[in-house]
Amino acid sequence: MTTVTTPTPMSDSIAEPWASEQTITCRDERTGLRAIIAIDDTTLGPGFGGVRYRAYPSTTAAAREAQRLAAAMTLKHALAELPYGGAKSVVMLDGRTPLAPGSPERGALFARFGEMIARTAGTYIPGVDMGTLLEDMQTIRDEGGARAFCDEVSPSPFTARGVHAAMRAAAVHHHGVGGLAGTEVVVQGVGSVGAEVARLAHADGARVTVADVDTVRAEALAAELGGRTVDARQAPFHPADVFSPCAVARVVTRENIGRIPARIIAGAANDTLDEPGCAEALREAGITFVPDFVANAGGVVQVHGGVSGWSDAQTLAAVDRIGDRVTELLTTAEAQGITPLAAALQRASAALGREILT
Ligand code: NAD
Repeated sequence: MTTVTTPTPMSDSIAEPWASEQTITCRDERTGLRAIIAIDDTTLGPGFGGVRYRAYPSTTAAAREAQRLAAAMTLKHALAELPYGGAKSVVMLDGRTPLAPGSPERGALFARFGEMIARTAGTYIPGVDMGTLLEDMQTIRDEGGARAFCDEVSPSPFTARGVHAAMRAAAVHHHGVGGLAGTEVVVQGVGSVGAEVARLAHADGARVTVADVDTVRAEALAAELGGRTVDARQAPFHPADVFSPCAVARVVTRENIGRIPARIIAGAANDTLDEPGCAEALREAGITFVPDFVANAGGVVQVHGGVSGWSDAQTLAAVDRIGDRVTELLTTAEAQGITPLAAALQRASAALGREILT
């Protein structure tokens, strides 16, 4: 077997060693493995969260991303009422191109990582995330001996269904029973989740405009739905009732809120807000922001349904409850004069028995 040696930036450190319940570094010279597992909170159950496999400028950046994403998983599971804590791990590329899927080197890397995950004795359960594949999870499970969630079913359609349920609930909250019918919806990013969100909104009677850096993909979907396209960067500023960010993070900033015509923001993209203070600025601007970790939980609900042996009908009903949750959050937020994000964090705080601040 080829030995892969990976230089480690020795001056790097974990900037916030106590940000998570546990932050575990994993090193293996034979396979070149450099990974960080962040287990944010296990109050509600074992920490579940995907494995990212990508390059990071430093160990500090990798650790920060693992910890931040792990904390978001804690909130997502708490709000979705799932019996998991929050966790995430990163396998650092260290500037190299990814090892080829199916190669012995990649197999050895994820087998070794699996052995390290197994040492957490089930406290960390990995799943697929950016840069990793179902087969990597199978390697972690079969060769590493760790518990891993590697359902054969893609979570994306379930994530989309949840986003649509969230969007619809927010529209009903605003416009009454008609919901999305007759509204204008703009979807930014029409990949596996966004395209399905656009289709569901269209089927619900909305006029849909789509945006993607892949303009061919956007044009094809617009043609399918009888809609239009808009430049990917201009999507947030397109005249619409609902803006659904389904591509990249931090598209809503303090600087651009004044230019967003939509009254509802509900999408799949994690970390939609550039910083938590944007939630209050959105409220002041009269824009209802459905927190991303509430709207995009359909995928984890499906994964849980898969491992729990739920029927399809049970899983779909559980995903659809995201809409009920959004209604409750918006009602609470309105009654208390707080943002939906603050209402969601209140709920997470109650579930976790500790105060979670933005
Ligand atoms: P994807 O890779 O299938 O699709 C992303 C799409 O966004 C692609 O079509 C890409 O061309 C486009 N895109 C990239 N940058 C863009 C930009 N700046 N402007 C407009 N379009 C851009 O990803 P996905 O699985 O559909 O996930 C979409 C988002 O939802 C991601 O932020 C992801 O983290 C989040 N999310 C996904 C799931 C899931 O189940 N897939 C679950 C929770 C959260």
